[in-house]
Amino acid sequence: MARIVQKFGGTSVATIERIKAAALKVKRERERGHQLTVAVSAMSGATDKLVELTRQASPLHDARESDVVIASGEQVTVGLMALCLQELGIPSRSFCGWQVPIRTNAAHGQARIEELVPDELERMLARGEVPVVAGFQGVTADGRITTLGRGGSDTTAVALAAALKAERCDIYTDVDGVYTSDPRIVTRARKLTRITFEEMLEMASLGAKVLQTRSVELAMNHRVRVQVLSSFAEQIGSDYPGTLLVDEDEIVEKHVVSGVTYSRDEAKITLVKVSDRPGVAAAIFGPLANANVNVDMIVQNVSEDGRATDLTFTVSRSDLDRAVALLNPLVKELGINRIRHDSNVVKVSVIGVGMRSHAGVAQRMFKALGDKGINIEVISTSEIKISILIAEEFTELALRTLHTAYGLDAN
Ligand code: ASP
Ligand code: MG
Repeated sequence: MARIVQKFGGTSVATIERIKAAALKVKRERERGHQLTVAVSAMSGATDKLVELTRQASPLHDARESDVVIASGEQVTVGLMALCLQELGIPSRSFCGWQVPIRTNAAHGQARIEELVPDELERMLARGEVPVVAGFQGVTADGRITTLGRGGSDTTAVALAAALKAERCDIYTDVDGVYTSDPRIVTRARKLTRITFEEMLEMASLGAKVLQTRSVELAMNHRVRVQVLSSFAEQIGSDYPGTLLVDEDEIVEKHVVSGVTYSRDEAKITLVKVSDRPGVAAAIFGPLANANVNVDMIVQNVSEDGRATDLTFTVSRSDLDRAVALLNPLVKELGINRIRHDSNVVKVSVIGVGMRSHAGVAQRMFKALGDKGINIEVISTSEIKISILIAEEFTELALRTLHTAYGLDAN
């Protein structure tokens, strides 16, 4: 007998029919003798509608009240799921975040889980019942409802698995696993049967939207085995049809690069001729940081004459206007000649733990792209990833080229 957390995403609970189908998966796992705890998202599209309503009510809304509204989508689906399970003869009850309780800090809209008290869930499991927990929600020390950021039900599910010491956390979603690249663009992309936590963390934060980044961090820290699998397929989690997140030493088939991802949410800013003196970078990035504008890739050249140099960096597209507005007042003081910006760029990244022990991984990327005439504008690297910025029109070509260059193509 194993203890398993099953999480059903928005598309898997989008209609009563789908909730019934999900409930059947719970039933089938349970018939194999496992102890199940279920976590659910809101019906797909529901949270977007609720966000829009809060915006209409008050554009600069009180985040505490907005959380009350946007958390409500999950209250509907936990109740419906418990009802569907009961219809199948499975004793079940629903829990909102505050009822568990799942305690979080007070960062409304982006709250972090501080403690999940599993006592009541444990009692239910001991009686052979199935608790159904609302994803995405928590409660502060002073009793206010919080939400964990968009996509946060994944994090709830992993937190449940960690607190209950579950053997596995199955994330049922609308894709059947994690792919070597976006299959809509790279038709020869392959489904990975296993991926390391670290690689998944990079993939999640570099554009692959299968799991909320925070949930992968949590899984990595608590060594929770997470499986991503399709809720539309026949097979259930215990058949291992999806992609399993594991430690590096559990990877059998080793590749230097495991995936190629991209993010279109990028904009490039170049400050032409910035004074080359101490304190300048702090004067530029300080105001951006204070305004919560996240800066990603940064390149600065050495100045030829020791007086001025160009500085290029990227921000997310939605922050571009704000960033430029914050930089404009600095033009005079820092001797900036001109501010140029471009949002027709895309960040392409190759990810793989195998890079640590192989030389020439970056060179293979530069050569492959060079051969196709794709110009690289900015480069940044870490131990297990190489990211480049290129013109957006080359996205598809770059992804396919790199997928082939690293030997990832399906036969
Ligand atoms: N319902 C929330 C959202 O749409 C949380 C989730 O689905 O994970 O972001
Ligand atoms: Mg999701």
